[in-house]
Amino acid sequence: MNLSDQLTVTAKKNLTKTALYFQGKETSYQELEGAVTKFASSLKKLGFQKGDHIALVVGNTPHFVIGLYGALRLGVTVIPINPIYTPDELSYIINNGDVKGIITLDMLLEKFEKMAEDLPKVEHYIIAETNPEVPFGHSSLSPKLKSFTQLVQEGELDFERPYLDDDDVAVILYTSGTTGKPKGAMLTHKNLYSNAKDVGTYLGITPDDRVIATLPMFHVFCLTVALNAPLMSGGTVLVVPKFSPETIFKLTREQQATVFAGVPTMYNYLLQYPEGKSSDFESIRLCVSGGASMPVALLENFEKKFNCQISEGYGLSESSPVTCFNPLDRPRKAGSIGTSIIHVENKVVDENGEEVPVGEVGELIVRGPNVMKGYYKMPEETAATLKDGWLYTGDMARVDEDGYFYIVDRKKDLILVGGYNVYPREVEEVLYSHPKVAEAAVVGVPDPDTGEAVAAFVVSKDESLTEEELIAYCKEHLAKYKIPSSISFMEELPKNTTGKILRRHLKEKIKQ
Ligand code: AMP
Repeated sequence: MNLSDQLTVTAKKNLTKTALYFQGKETSYQELEGAVTKFASSLKKLGFQKGDHIALVVGNTPHFVIGLYGALRLGVTVIPINPIYTPDELSYIINNGDVKGIITLDMLLEKFEKMAEDLPKVEHYIIAETNPEVPFGHSSLSPKLKSFTQLVQEGELDFERPYLDDDDVAVILYTSGTTGKPKGAMLTHKNLYSNAKDVGTYLGITPDDRVIATLPMFHVFCLTVALNAPLMSGGTVLVVPKFSPETIFKLTREQQATVFAGVPTMYNYLLQYPEGKSSDFESIRLCVSGGASMPVALLENFEKKFNCQISEGYGLSESSPVTCFNPLDRPRKAGSIGTSIIHVENKVVDENGEEVPVGEVGELIVRGPNVMKGYYKMPEETAATLKDGWLYTGDMARVDEDGYFYIVDRKKDLILVGGYNVYPREVEEVLYSHPKVAEAAVVGVPDPDTGEAVAAFVVSKDESLTEEELIAYCKEHLAKYKIPSSISFMEELPKNTTGKILRRHLKEKIKQ
């Protein structure tokens, strides 16, 4: 089974049900299935075939969904890319990914016109019109330009599907990486299908669910949890192009959303929004958090204010992504990423790959049908990450006697203060628990005496908060070597488009 064939099955059972809701417009399962087939048949007519690569450079709109499922139906590998990437970032991925065609938005056409010379392998630019009333005019790319809308309209429904093998690559996700060039994680049809199915089962997604997709769809968290899983179950995806607390609360009230999936910074924005009230989230039965560690103080304050439960999970692009979730049928443990989801094994190991005893910290490794095939054209990086069938995540973790895992931090974010290990998360948890702190992040900085020292960055809720007050608070809760040597106050912490705090930007700030 694969996502595309599954959509056909789900659509048959839910013909008139709303699959997508976007800016007041509803697309039924029948309409979505039709558009996907027609788009696939048009791609075929253009000369695309199984095994070709297509880049999907659009934000959260129905075009993303039709483009993704349409290409998958033809066996074309999709490379979703963040539309706000710079020309250098885009051209690296497009060239490295051997992309034959690009699906993008009319408003990005100018950017691609300027880059076209650097993209010799690209034969087609498929332009999704955000305003179909205003067709795009003449362009230097004209011979290669196609209208997305026209391809859907002119496509055919009696389209002969190619056979899709479980191990064919469905999607390549370029992970940003902190050093070196981005790496393309190759996810197969089996990877994507199995994870969407297992996540859907774990979260109990049914056709009655209305899931908010506000995380970027080009990121694996949204792709699997807020898009593929609900579409597999006949649920409705409420597509949000841009996150803001106001948009989320309004949409939830008006559309009676039942599931919200977000990264911790989104929960923080919702919590801090002055007009937010418990009734705004009344219809929500489940909040899902992932992508970064959820500070316990934030989790508890959010649950109290909005009277709903947050279930934290964990995953990474390389595992399509989910490996752990807090179960809904057993006690939820705050601060934990939960237990292994069905079909996936998680293990904590030492430097030699040997499992460590319960409670001890080691690297988290993962095995299951969701683990990637490898990095595209990077055999060495693949061999360093996939060993004996296990994916080495680069995250440090521990497991308790009930099988609940706890992420300690990224291996590379570990701070070594005079020989002692300090994981930023531990310090951040304390900072978040201070009532005047809105956001906090901690990094290591060079120190002549101790090798490294802890530097904290804080966004305060209250102007009266001082560095001395916060350091005194840390002294009450942390061992001496973990106490920040400096605290810098900022208006906002740097984040990527998924909403994850960028610690490496903070490190650079200190260097400067
Ligand atoms: P990405 O490939 O962009 O999805 O990033 C994956 C990384 O996000 C993981 O390797 C972790 O470092 C981090 N991550 C994801 N979920 C969690 C979580 N619940 N707690 C802590 N870190 C997380």
